[in-house]
Amino acid sequence: FFSKLKEKFSRSEDKDKYLSGLTPSRKTFGDRIRALSNNYHGIDDELLEELMVILLESDVGIHAAQKIVDRFEENASRISDYGSMEEYFIQILREFYDESIVLPLNMEQDVPVVILMVGVNGSGKTTTTAKLVKYYKDQGKKVCVAAADTFRAGAVDQIETWAERLGVECIKGRPNQDPSSVLVDACRRAKETGADMLIADTAGRLQNKQNLMNELTKMHRVCEREIEGAPHETWLVLDATTGQNGILQAHQFTEATNVTGIILTKMDGTAKGGVVMAIRDGLELPVRFLGLGEKPEDLRPFDLDLYLYGITK
Ligand code: GDP
Repeated sequence: FFSKLKEKFSRSEDKDKYLSGLTPSRKTFGDRIRALSNNYHGIDDELLEELMVILLESDVGIHAAQKIVDRFEENASRISDYGSMEEYFIQILREFYDESIVLPLNMEQDVPVVILMVGVNGSGKTTTTAKLVKYYKDQGKKVCVAAADTFRAGAVDQIETWAERLGVECIKGRPNQDPSSVLVDACRRAKETGADMLIADTAGRLQNKQNLMNELTKMHRVCEREIEGAPHETWLVLDATTGQNGILQAHQFTEATNVTGIILTKMDGTAKGGVVMAIRDGLELPVRFLGLGEKPEDLRPFDLDLYLYGITK
């Protein structure tokens, strides 16, 4: 497994960035797993307990951690197939994540692909919207962006400044304007200009669940009305440093609307990379991108192999 991983990894242009972004997690998680692996002399309660502690401390969450440790124990006869306990453990994590849930974004459509960005203030939603605009523009897509977070002072200006710098059209709202009405304008403009994509920074405020649901439902409805099949994706932005609180928040969003993917921000500032496993377990949603810093280029599509390599090397 590791030799395959290294081969893939050596082809990856941004491996240094990926690894440096994940440095904090590597120290705690990887070093501890390696230490266990070096002293490995068979499975006993002490080892399982230590694995459990390492997983919990990296924010895998009790549910997922229990399942991972159970699988580790049940399939222990496979350790010899992997050369070391460490490599076997990584394989268990890999199988646990199960990439089969990740469907690629379907860009082959006659209409602009609409992506709604949702999340609480401070999660990095607006920054991530700007990063995604750059990411898809760099891929040659004609992108336009909606600055529809009309409630957070500054969010609209933030997007507008980015859009100007990146040379993409920005459809913006006035302070306190209904985000849905900004979305209507943005959808129409995206169609008129023949854009491939519309990425929309929205304001889904988590005051209470009913309120959140009402706002998000309305945003969905207006997109549906303007563009066939829209919104094609709704991505929830979560701050990885909030750990299990982020997971709770995510549940509130997924109950309120049809979230199709997660973007984890601030992975550069946390030693708790395990939150990726918690999301996979508790939410059954793919992690689409990782945010690894404040700059527009600090965004990486989520890649399970690179992620595992990053947290363990
Ligand atoms: P919003 O309220 O969710 O729209 O949050 P912002 O996009 O304004 O981001 C809040 C803060 O988090 C800002 O200071 C961003 O620069 C910062 N931020 C966003 N993403 C990342 C990230 O991936 N890494 C780091 N270190 N900071 C980030």
